[in-house]
Amino acid sequence: MTELLGVEAHLDSVLAEIGPLATLDLTLLEAHGCVLAEDVVAAFDLPPFANSAMDGYAVRVSDIATASPGTPVQLPVVGDIAAGTTTPYTVRDGLCVRIMTGAPMPPGANAVVPVEATDGGIATVEIRAAAEVGQHVRLAGEDAKAGQQVLAVGTHLGAAQIGLAAAAGRDRVVVRPRPRVVVLSTGSELVEPGQPISFGQIPDSNSTMLAAAAREAGAIAFRVGLVPDDPNVLISTLEDQLIRADLVLTSGGVSVGAFDVVKEAIGRLGNVRFVKVAMQPGMPQGAGMIGPERTPFFGLPGNPVSAYVSFEVFVRPAIRRMLGVEPIHRPVVRARLTDAVRSPSGRRSYLRGEISVREGTYAATPVGGPGSNLLATLARANCLIVVPEDVTELPAGAVVSVMLLERRQQ
Ligand code: AMP
Ligand code: MG
Repeated sequence: MTELLGVEAHLDSVLAEIGPLATLDLTLLEAHGCVLAEDVVAAFDLPPFANSAMDGYAVRVSDIATASPGTPVQLPVVGDIAAGTTTPYTVRDGLCVRIMTGAPMPPGANAVVPVEATDGGIATVEIRAAAEVGQHVRLAGEDAKAGQQVLAVGTHLGAAQIGLAAAAGRDRVVVRPRPRVVVLSTGSELVEPGQPISFGQIPDSNSTMLAAAAREAGAIAFRVGLVPDDPNVLISTLEDQLIRADLVLTSGGVSVGAFDVVKEAIGRLGNVRFVKVAMQPGMPQGAGMIGPERTPFFGLPGNPVSAYVSFEVFVRPAIRRMLGVEPIHRPVVRARLTDAVRSPSGRRSYLRGEISVREGTYAATPVGGPGSNLLATLARANCLIVVPEDVTELPAGAVVSVMLLERRQQ
């Protein structure tokens, strides 16, 4: 086998052409799932004013120093402070006010006695416990100070981060948008999933799988579905789709078969290299730029496991780069093999594996054989065991690098 391109060499040439998408100013909800392109700074103290952490009574601790269940202290209640009150009472010696959670602490008071430690009185209250200064009081600025950075450039905006931006006084943020990834499958043998299949046909599993993988990487995925092995249909479909694509992903048709349409036709739309990469699965790869806006394009091999592994190794980092997040790669850990494995000489194997923790260290168990069509074993795998190019076999107990596939959206 000659002229195989190294995995890193191909990845580098792919990433060299891809940068973060232009920033957008979006409302907080529109920005959900995007990556911050600015620091978010608290517009005021969080919380903005000292307030009560409990429903109860705002007191001066010196007035209730002797209070206990057996020796309660009676205090007149001079008013009520609800959350939202903007003109609080001042609490003088020997007095208290009833206060609700989130209501501003009245000047003069220095603690809150929870209603559970009282008789709940309205005109006067019987207090049955002493208090420390500051008890059940949330201080102004204890979460963040005015002017303090609360979210940094590069932060992925999930629900909690959006909540914090709102609390800090923002309604919009500048973000990098989620890349729009158009996914289609090529192959005249393919049928829409869920439809009956005749002899020689199979459901198109790749477009759904790759659209889901693109989402897991942080993209917005548009699944176009399948196109037959007809160059003209492929080209016209891609021309229609380019308008909404930041990245185009196809599967199938990149090897050397008679009907490998992607390889045959894509050159009409732009500049795409077809290479053989020193890896298994996923040796044939197409990558480049297509259309008037030079949209990044990946032509992945059609075998579902090859397509999936190629996505993990090449496309996911590209999507992450467009998002502007770090790290762009999956986490890699060292793990001990529970079983022997084999790998072809001169190619880096990505073997489906199940990783677990045994006696405090990672253990990786290969699942299934090397066949790139074996989707059932891919679905069981939660990692890819990486066997280097120059290694052809490894015994049980050998320590290997393992790429973790946490299959959750992030
Ligand atoms: P190709 O890369 O087009 O030569 O396809 C290689 C193998 O993958 C063939 O067995 C195809 O039938 C299969 N294949 C291609 N595309 C898909 C797809 N979208 N879903 C499931 N299998 C596919
Ligand atoms: Mg095909």
